[in-house]
Amino acid sequence: MCDKCFNNEIESFPTEKDYLDFDLILTKKLANEKTVKHIQFVKTLEKQIDSRDYEVSGYNVYECIYCGQLWALRDRDNSDRGYFKKVSKQTIYNDILAFKTKKKIGCFILSILVIIVIATIFYLNK
Ligand SMILES: [Zn+2]
Repeated sequence: MCDKCFNNEIESFPTEKDYLDFDLILTKKLANEKTVKHIQFVKTLEKQIDSRDYEVSGYNVYECIYCGQLWALRDRDNSDRGYFKKVSKQTIYNDILAFKTKKKIGCFILSILVIIVIATIFYLNK
């Protein structure tokens, strides 16, 4: 935390205007002042809406070039009020790992279902 990046964390953006005001400040720091840079997007949830579209949620990670602080920004979106908070490398790593594990379990459950369906078809055709 320093004057070049941000001095406060934001627990949530109560209104769309709060979010847009903040977004403007962040954009300035990213594009004009170049004191903060975007690092990555960390996926925490992926939900299939239909056959083509996924609803992805997560947060963007930014790093202060001066103090090295990592910041997580979760966009304000409908029911989600978002936030802008300090984040550690460990938390980012854990979130990435947790997401991958969740995905693997999803694949595993799907495989089991496919096997059950195939076994049922096979059994009925006997
Ligand atoms: Zn800083």
